[in-house]
Amino acid sequence: MILDTGTVDADVELRADVCVIGSGAGGAVAAAELAEAGYSVVLVEDGPYLHGEDFVQREEVMYPRLYREGGTRATADYTVLVSQGRAVGGSTVVSFCLCVRPPRPLLGYWSRHLGLAGLEHEAMHPFFRRVEKRIGAQRILPEQVNGNSAKLRQGSEKLGYRGYIPLHNRVDCLLTGFCALGCTYDRKGDMLTTYVPAASRAGAVIVPDCEITQVRTDKGRVTGAVGVFRRSRTGTEHALTVTARVVVLAAGAINSPRIWRQSRLPDQADAVGRNLRLQPQVVVTALYPEPVESWKGIPQGYVVDEFLTMGGRSAGSGYLLVPAFAHPVAAASMLPGYGDEHRELMGLYPRLGAIAVLLHDHTRGRLELEEAGPPAVSYRLGGSDEDRLLDALAKAADISFAAGAEKVFLPYNQMVTITKRGAYQPIRDRGVRVNDPLFLSYQPQGTLRMGRDRRKAVVDPNGEAHAVRGLFVADASVFPTSVAVPAQVTVMALATRTAQHIVDHADRYF
Ligand SMILES: Cc1cc2nc3c(=O)[nH]c(=O)nc-3n(C[C@H](O)[C@H](O)[C@H](O)COP(=O)(O)OP(=O)(O)OC[C@H]3O[C@@H](n4cnc5c(N)ncnc54)[C@H](O)[C@@H]3O)c2cc1C
Repeated sequence: MILDTGTVDADVELRADVCVIGSGAGGAVAAAELAEAGYSVVLVEDGPYLHGEDFVQREEVMYPRLYREGGTRATADYTVLVSQGRAVGGSTVVSFCLCVRPPRPLLGYWSRHLGLAGLEHEAMHPFFRRVEKRIGAQRILPEQVNGNSAKLRQGSEKLGYRGYIPLHNRVDCLLTGFCALGCTYDRKGDMLTTYVPAASRAGAVIVPDCEITQVRTDKGRVTGAVGVFRRSRTGTEHALTVTARVVVLAAGAINSPRIWRQSRLPDQADAVGRNLRLQPQVVVTALYPEPVESWKGIPQGYVVDEFLTMGGRSAGSGYLLVPAFAHPVAAASMLPGYGDEHRELMGLYPRLGAIAVLLHDHTRGRLELEEAGPPAVSYRLGGSDEDRLLDALAKAADISFAAGAEKVFLPYNQMVTITKRGAYQPIRDRGVRVNDPLFLSYQPQGTLRMGRDRRKAVVDPNGEAHAVRGLFVADASVFPTSVAVPAQVTVMALATRTAQHIVDHADRYF
């Protein structure tokens, strides 16, 4: 059932076994699993409940409609643009549908070195399997690999780098290429078309357009949550109060810590909002002699994992290379240069291809959390991450030239071009400075980290707050380190595991 807050002209009070805050990768999964297990669930989402026809394939309409802060949220020094979805279905509604499990050695590290027993690959496998099945993850077909992805494939195969055609959660995709603006044809296996309807079918009440402002507790136990919504016709503000024995916080890695602080929940370890990982990515653009038409088809149809080695911090390790492209507004905001040279580059749009470097970052940022207002995001790439990033830029340029590029444009503010393979001194000369290159982050994580030790971590290995009985976190905030790959299936698998834990230990909570 959907509670259409826009038409309600009164405060609302609801009672349920479980209140889930946020309907993205973590929240939707937790809500469906718990509702299907027979518990009454209220799922509250800050963003709107949109349908296929609302996704109009226009950037100027969809960024403000679907993205947090209209897609302009950035770190305090504007070096990293942090993109998050804001709608029923969360960031999965705008995702590229790439499904990648974390590397086995990383899960081994989490379980053996960080003491998170049960997170090793063998133990997590059933949760990943369940999630992949429910979201329809399957390998895309070779003929669905679009022009831009084919360039990444061609260049990396020529250089002998390991890569593969990945799994995607899309069903009978029409290859329109508008994934980042929401799917008009409902062909994504995102939360909006999978777990949210499943939760609703199992009896959950979905409350869109309602911002939870506080989690409530009493004597160390959670008791519910409160939020605000507005009646659309008059703009009148009303309160939502949900009384619940279990609260699952899944508002994403920036807003979950924000709600934590606003609620004045305990932070004995001084860990709330710390350990922020952004898995920053930069985009290397290439000009090809022939049209590539990179905006058409499935955006991320090939993955190069040759350099995703774990355990070392040396250059040449710890990053993934994936195809990247954007529609004209976003592309223009990311391409280098100003004025005429920028206009000329945009004029070459049909012949451009691009590769994104996704860095497994060791840098830790933090959120400056206040009791009111959005947090400032502090993050400055440092240490070995910088060297590995510069190495990755050169590798992406190498692959582009091997695929036939005439020219490569580096992701700096000023136009920095490379016209022949190996001439990479400009990368070393420019290095990494504040606001240059421009980084993107699609997967903020780690800000309510999981760990056995309550002196260091916010939640325990099952996702339950060390300091508040019945309060669980089930979003990307819980990752103890950067997960190294696009995060959606890991968030979903961990949320499934947390829901399972609640069901298995129901006598403690209900
Ligand atoms: C453009 C884009 C493309 C991506 N593509 C991929 C991809 O191809 N593959 C992949 O693996 N990952 C991808 N990701 C990343 C992936 O979507 C996220 O890592 C994942 O969705 C994070 O899950 P989450 O539950 O932590 O947060 P989210 O999915 O962001 O969900 C959080 C939800 O909480 C809601 N919320 C926030 N505050 C409140 C509040 N106060 N009250 C109520 N609700 C609130 C938000 O509106 C949001 O709906 C992409 C992300 C973006 C932005």
